[in-house]
Amino acid sequence: MTKKSSTWFKIHQIYRALRCRVGTGEKTFFWLDSWATDRPLKEEFPLIFGLAKNKMNKVSHNYKKNQNGVFWDWQWCRLPNNDSEKNEWIALKDLLVNQPVGRNEDVWRWKENNVLGFSVKDVRKDLSGIIDVNMVPTDYEWSKIATSKVNLFVLRAVEERIPTMVSLRKRGVQLGSDLCKVCGIEPETADHIGIHCPAAKEVWLQIWLWIKIPLRDHREKITTRLSEKAEWPKKKMKIIYAIHLATVWQLWKNRNNKIYNNKFTDPFKIVEEIKEETYDWVRTRAKLSEITWSDWKNFIFME
Ligand SMILES: [Zn+2]
Repeated sequence: MTKKSSTWFKIHQIYRALRCRVGTGEKTFFWLDSWATDRPLKEEFPLIFGLAKNKMNKVSHNYKKNQNGVFWDWQWCRLPNNDSEKNEWIALKDLLVNQPVGRNEDVWRWKENNVLGFSVKDVRKDLSGIIDVNMVPTDYEWSKIATSKVNLFVLRAVEERIPTMVSLRKRGVQLGSDLCKVCGIEPETADHIGIHCPAAKEVWLQIWLWIKIPLRDHREKITTRLSEKAEWPKKKMKIIYAIHLATVWQLWKNRNNKIYNNKFTDPFKIVEEIKEETYDWVRTRAKLSEITWSDWKNFIFME
């Protein structure tokens, strides 16, 4: 199976093929969904997206209504202060002025055009109903340390909206078996790949040892593991959270590597990849630019 024809690739295209007609804006992510144009605003205005404080805001969070009409506003990490940022900001304000918001429900629909060379009609035929496009998203804490790609992936995983064998079969996609391709023991769900699979358990044990937090129940769900932080050291909480996201992401990548390349990765190697990816994040996206690889491997640092 080539990358381009893989189901995973198609799912990506589905998200890109949806556009929201915003009513009140309560179901639509301001930055992450396509609504004002055919692309998400985070892609149209990447610099301004970088400056926005709450990247998971719904459209409804970002405007207020008064007798003069609609007034757009949100919290910033800092205001635009150079020419490129200011130009984006002006263009975004121009776009928003023309958005009729405030009445009716948000409605999702398919974009008319083909997306990256294959027709939306084909995708719909293959995967009709695979995602409930009008579903209200769960509460999910966006990590500023993790990349957007990883945040979005885990957000979908906690909602079981990633293309696992079980979710594909539920939606009528013909498959030989819905068992996990990594262990072959249990049906493949997002929680299985992220936590319950023997390979995942092994990885988590090593991660807990590394970041020095207590062991947890291997039967819990991803969403529980991400939200119960009482035993995490307060000062390292944000970094530990980002490491959790990276772990779920790397376990999914490992699963894909098994399915598409028939490669089995040793759990020690997966843990190494998690350490390397998060080392990049904390140096560039958290305030730990000085931390050495050896300190990171021992999880010794002060925030
Ligand atoms: Zn498994």
